[in-house]
Amino acid sequence: MLEARDRIGGRLHTVELNSSPGTVVDLGASWIHGIGPGVIGDETNSWAGQMNPVYRFAMENGIKTVRTWGEASKDVTLECFIKDGSSKMPLKLWNLLDQIKDFVEDESNFKCNTEENFGDVVRKKFWGSQSLNAEDRFVSDFLMKMIFCENEGADPDCLSAKYIGQDSLFRGDEHIFEGGYSKIADCLAKGLSIDLNQEI
Ligand SMILES: Cc1cc2nc3c(=O)[nH]c(=O)nc-3n(C[C@H](O)[C@H](O)[C@H](O)COP(=O)(O)OP(=O)(O)OC[C@H]3O[C@@H](n4cnc5c(N)ncnc54)[C@H](O)[C@@H]3O)c2cc1C
Repeated sequence: MLEARDRIGGRLHTVELNSSPGTVVDLGASWIHGIGPGVIGDETNSWAGQMNPVYRFAMENGIKTVRTWGEASKDVTLECFIKDGSSKMPLKLWNLLDQIKDFVEDESNFKCNTEENFGDVVRKKFWGSQSLNAEDRFVSDFLMKMIFCENEGADPDCLSAKYIGQDSLFRGDEHIFEGGYSKIADCLAKGLSIDLNQEI
């Protein structure tokens, strides 16, 4: 197996603090967003009714997880402040955000055969049709990344638009890993021959 970086794990990246040996921090993914079951009635969800496979893998391999919060707290209210922290985001941008949310929720908007990326599809649809100045574009671009690409931890321009909305949803509590999420990558890598620093 060839890996471009000098380590395994990709966007799973747990590091130990120099200042506090034994204390680990996840620089990449931290949470299992719902240990399960998968949502029933969601046609994109082939895991309907089943436990989250990451959680199951952890359990099967003795990797300890810790519950951080329950399912009920998943509804987070978003409040945005611009620059100095005192001014609230203009209503115009909230409205734009709502329109983008509706657009993103309609999967048919992303049923493209091209390799277009998510960022370009959204910008093409909205940026031209609204009277947005440079700062408005900057803020709405930032919000697009934060709201729609946060789970992937990837830039909107690096996400294929083709697969938007095809992820599975899991109910249940949110867990983190006692020794960091990289425990999963370490466990998966056991017994594999991996050549680092080998970009394909
Ligand atoms: C800051 C951050 C927070 C996140 N938080 C969460 C979270 O709490 N919960 C959650 O579920 N998800 C979270 N995610 C997303 C999660 O980390 C990713 O969805 C997941 O790790 C993706 O796994 P992957 O194997 O598909 O891709 P990656 O982890 O990106 O792995 C791809 C691997 O392929 C290698 N590679 C790429 N191109 C080449 C090439 N040309 N040649 C050789 N090797 C190559 C890369 O170096 C990398 O090691 C977060 C991501 C980030 C960045």
